Parts: sequence; C-alpha cells; structure tokens
Amino acid sequence: RDMIVVEDLWKTYDMGSEQQVSALRGISLRIKENEYVAIMGPSGSGKSTFMNLIGCLDSPSKGKYWLNNQLVSELDDDELARIRNKEIGFVFQTFNLLARATALHNVELPLIYNGTPAAERIERAKEALRNVNLETRMHHKPNELSGGQRQRVAIARALVNSPSIILADEPTGNLDSKTGVEIMALFDELQAKGNTIVLVTHEPDIAEYAHRVVHIRDGEIASDEPSKRFR
Ligand code: ADP
Ligand code: ADP
Repeated sequence: RDMIVVEDLWKTYDMGSEQQVSALRGISLRIKENEYVAIMGPSGSGKSTFMNLIGCLDSPSKGKYWLNNQLVSELDDDELARIRNKEIGFVFQTFNLLARATALHNVELPLIYNGTPAAERIERAKEALRNVNLETRMHHKPNELSGGQRQRVAIARALVNSPSIILADEPTGNLDSKTGVEIMALFDELQAKGNTIVLVTHEPDIAEYAHRVVHIRDGEIASDEPSKRFR
C-alpha cells in the first residue's frame, strides 16, 4: 500500500523583479507503508523544500501529492494544518520541546490540540514514552534530560497521534555520534513495529541507516536505491 505518492512536483519561489528559483523540478516518488526512506542531498539541493511539502507545511507550485490516499496538493492552509496534525509526526534537529513542561506533558501536547480527553491523553502519552524506553523519566523537564533523552521525548510526541508517517529532519544533528547511533537504532525499532519513516539528512552515514536512500540534486532525484545494508 502506498503511503506517499508524489507526481511531477515543482516548487518555484518568486524572488522579486521577475526572478524565480525552482527549488524542486519535477520530483516523482512513491513510498509504501512501513518503508524507511532517507532523503539525502547537499545544502541547497531542495531537501527542506521537499520536506515542507511532504510534511504538509507548504503547497507545491505544480504537481500532485497523495498522502495516505488523500490528494493533499490542492488543499488550502486550514485543511493542510488539519491533515498535518493527524497524519505527520515531526522530529527536528533542535527537539522543539516546551522547556517548562515535563516529558509527559510535552508528549500530551498533540492530543491537547485535537481535543483528546485527559485520561486517554495520559495513557497514550505514557504508552508513547514506553515505546521510546523513557517511561522512567516522564516527570522530568527537558533541562533534566540528556540530549538523547530529549530527542526520545520528541519522538514519543511524534508517535502519540499514531501518524501515517514520521518525518525526521536531521534528527541526530545536535547529538554526539554515540547518542546519534542510539537514536537511529530507535528508528529501526519503530520501523519494525510498523511505522513509515522519512528521514531528511545531508549526512551520508546517517542516511545509510534507512532501508532506501533517495538522493536529491538541484531539485531533481539523482538516484533512488536500497541502502548498503539492504543491497
Ligand atoms: P536544502 O534543504 O537542501 O538546503 P532548500 O530546499 O532549502 O535546500 O533550498 C533549495 C533552493 O531553493 C535553494 O536554492 C534555496 O536558496 C531556494 N529557496 C529555499 N527556500 C526559499 C524561499 N523561501 N525563497 C526563495 N528561495 C528559496
Ligand atoms: P496551526 O496553524 O494549526 O496552529 P502550526 O503551524 O502551529 O498549526 O503547527 C501545526 C503542526 O505543524 C505542529 O504539529 C507543528 O509541530 C508542525 N509545524 C509547525 N511549524 C513547523 C515547521 N516550521 N517545521 C516543521 N513542522 C512545523
């Protein structure tokens, strides 16, 4: 079953005085349910632009995007925000946790936004923290946690809504290499449990943790192959 279908996706930015930059130039791609794909490319290749489209944070200039069988490329901003909250679990380089809230409360946040009752919220947040092996730290605030533990909280927050895809943007960018390896091992576990994962990175070593590596160069797909360990 296809989770993501992208057909001839273009994104062109207006730079004023009739200048334009095409950050994406006709990307076509399919990602199946339970795949683990890395989007790789040098700085300026169009990764962030692509991630913003896949993550329903922005709309393409041209082309079609189906997420979980819904055509999302033609939705307005409000509809896009609704789909985003339901279908996408974001993980960022900078963790983006609320400093004054406990791990448990940070993980509950997406459920507060969508109106889940409190008792169910707490149960689901605890379950998500169990899935990242961080139950014992649930009452700690971010500044009482290590970098790797903070990223685990952020991953639990991404999981708590049971999203269609986990979209991770340089998830190890702020971690030392040992902790980075632990976080990548956690993504492996999550894939084994059935999650669909899209990882965006400029680091070839990190991309190799995925099962499939898509290289973007100058807004086009330059290659699309199994990672070394799956060849
Ligand atoms: P990457 O994430 O791989 O570094 P980006 O998607 O950020 O690449 O950028 C791709 C190209 O699009 C670059 O040439 C960049 O300068 C341009 N670009 C990205 N965002 C904007 C924007 N908001 N306005 C104008 N140009 C942009
Ligand atoms: P709303 O417009 O409904 O308030 P937001 O734009 O605040 O929605 O964010 C909705 C979701 O999108 C949140 O889950 C948030 O994590 C994610 N999000 C918002 N801004 C960004 C961003 N710049 N990059 C990645 N994800 C974002």
